[in-house]
Amino acid sequence: MRKTLIATAIGAALTLSACSEQPSTPADLSADTTVEAMVDVASENPFFQPFALQYEAPDFRLIDDAHFLPAFEEGMARHMAEINAIANNPEPATFENTIVAMERSGDMLTRVSRVFFNLSGTDSNEKRRGIARELSPKLSAHSDNINLNPALFARVEAIYNQREALGLDAESARLLDVYYDRFVRSGATLTEEQQVKIRALNEEHSNLTTQFSQNQLAITRDIAVVVDNVEELDGLSDSQIRAAATAAEAAGHEGKYLLSITNTTRQPILTSLNNRELRQRVWEASAFRGTSGEVDVRPIVSRLAQIRAERAQLLGYNNWAEYQLENTMAETPQNVLDMLTSMVPAVVANTKQEQADIQEMIRRHGGDFEVQPWDWEYYAELVRQEKYDLDENEVKQYFEFNRVLHDGVFYTMNRLYGIRFEPRPDLPVYHPDVEAYEVFDHDGTSLAIFYADYFAREGKRGGAWMSSFVGQSHLLGKKPVVVNVMNIPKAPEGEPTLISYDHTTTIFHELGHGIHGMFSNVKYPSLAGTAVSRDFVEFPSTFEEDWAAHPEVLANYAKHHESGEPIPSELLEKIMQSRSFNQGFDTLEYIAASFLDMEWHTLSADASLQNVEQFEAAALAKYGVDLPAVPPRYKSTFFNHSIGGGYSAGYYAYMWSEILAADAFAYVQSRGGLTRENGDHYRKNILEVGNSRPPMESYIKFRGQEPTTDALLIRRGLKTQLD
Ligand SMILES: [Zn+2]
Repeated sequence: MRKTLIATAIGAALTLSACSEQPSTPADLSADTTVEAMVDVASENPFFQPFALQYEAPDFRLIDDAHFLPAFEEGMARHMAEINAIANNPEPATFENTIVAMERSGDMLTRVSRVFFNLSGTDSNEKRRGIARELSPKLSAHSDNINLNPALFARVEAIYNQREALGLDAESARLLDVYYDRFVRSGATLTEEQQVKIRALNEEHSNLTTQFSQNQLAITRDIAVVVDNVEELDGLSDSQIRAAATAAEAAGHEGKYLLSITNTTRQPILTSLNNRELRQRVWEASAFRGTSGEVDVRPIVSRLAQIRAERAQLLGYNNWAEYQLENTMAETPQNVLDMLTSMVPAVVANTKQEQADIQEMIRRHGGDFEVQPWDWEYYAELVRQEKYDLDENEVKQYFEFNRVLHDGVFYTMNRLYGIRFEPRPDLPVYHPDVEAYEVFDHDGTSLAIFYADYFAREGKRGGAWMSSFVGQSHLLGKKPVVVNVMNIPKAPEGEPTLISYDHTTTIFHELGHGIHGMFSNVKYPSLAGTAVSRDFVEFPSTFEEDWAAHPEVLANYAKHHESGEPIPSELLEKIMQSRSFNQGFDTLEYIAASFLDMEWHTLSADASLQNVEQFEAAALAKYGVDLPAVPPRYKSTFFNHSIGGGYSAGYYAYMWSEILAADAFAYVQSRGGLTRENGDHYRKNILEVGNSRPPMESYIKFRGQEPTTDALLIRRGLKTQLD
């Protein structure tokens, strides 16, 4: 996907730090409904001026859905007027009158975008979805009008060419690099003829990715497995069977049962299905989707890989991955391949051990066959039950939501960074379940506003994420207004909400993104907080996860919700051990998909169109990750991250961030663990700086060296000690 100025400016805002694995696609915005005509509300539209609340927090009491479209129209018009004034300024171009001026522009558009896209995720309705569809092409045209403005680029280039002589401070120099890069990477320096070509490729690419993503919905729906007899469903719970019957009826198969397919190759339902033939049918429906029948997406997959290679070549790169990785922490395709390759031996060895345990379980159950992909989950579950015997309900008694949040998460933040969270019930919120806090620094200074929106409800997108309503910037005098969103099922009125250990670590994770936004301490809004490369953004969040299991933290929060007794050490031990279960398989299927992603995007522009199946088989064999029982987490025909475009040559990023997090956490433990000294050191070198300097530079300042994969392998239970 082409990175554009406005997409980046707005993107940084909305940003949804890539928490849920599924990237949002433009296809989400393209179903069809009409939007009723807007009344003229400009005179009382709250977006037309900054909100009067503390830190310009949105005043949700004043906002109506009818305000959005007029505010976007006005916001884009004002922004374009500002951009034109910069581009056509008769004065010679200076850093101040061009780059800084662009940083100051678009205030109203940013304001309405952040509120609108946040609410689209947390409180969606048909009207808002309609507005989003109407907006999508307008916003994209708006960004093209900025990126393809030759007068504007001429000014940026003039400043860039004299950068050594300008005496810029480090952050300003970084900002100049970021701007210049964005224009160049959009094709600003190409000849007119080349620009015509790239526009044509962009258009074809955009059409094909939209087609690919929309086909995903169709092929996943079409391959649902229809089952005739209830006997075949042996192993499913009564409620699962009822749900399958209802789904069948809705799809016109009355009296039958319909098993739907989820988006990864592996299918969670295989854990419970006793009927081996049905397991095979379900797995094959999943694994072969998009390769035949009405929707065969293979031609799209191979053409997309080719288009990307051609675009990269036009822009002066050997392949698409080289282009995509240029401004990331990994920097080059080879660095990504080295990272993934270095993990293969330990991961394959662990997976083979897991496979041996599974094979033994098959034998004990009288099976006389070698484990196949459709058997793995089923027998792994039997192994898990035997090894850990973990009762989720017993665990939850020790994880009461309020205690986890205040005595666990906020407590940890206080121990590490000295910050306090004070409830602010006076601030308006967008839903009664949302709680507002003001966050105070260790010296009592007010730092940020934080909204906690943790409970599931109708209209909220699935998953968990962090976003901002206002981004930090010294230039604009703005302090952060940040939100964390999750989907924890809320207990009925009057009962305590008891949560799983997974939800517990996710609260830590999201507040890790939260403080990345709240501790931001930079001048320019484009470089603030979570506006970092995608292989760095999950580092600060994953880093906070492991504090959930730190002994001093646990002792403070993991207590029985009625008796207040601390969690028994035996139960705790079981929780921790069960978390490393099946990690060989989990990690191997992930890195196999990452290799596929890299292979597709290191093809050169003159490579012919590839046969998808042969290409996949060769790619997996090349890296020694072709275990027949462990297929990649996604195959090309339904690998929306990679082929759909959002994470093309970027699927590795989740693992890269986790490597940093594990390495950083282990380092902090070796220096005394939960202390203000550690917290402040980490805050100063990683969290405060945002994208104001290259991420590896920040990491080395914090850690004293580059990260290694050792701590990650230990974290995942794939290795027991350092070599
Ligand atoms: Zn995250």
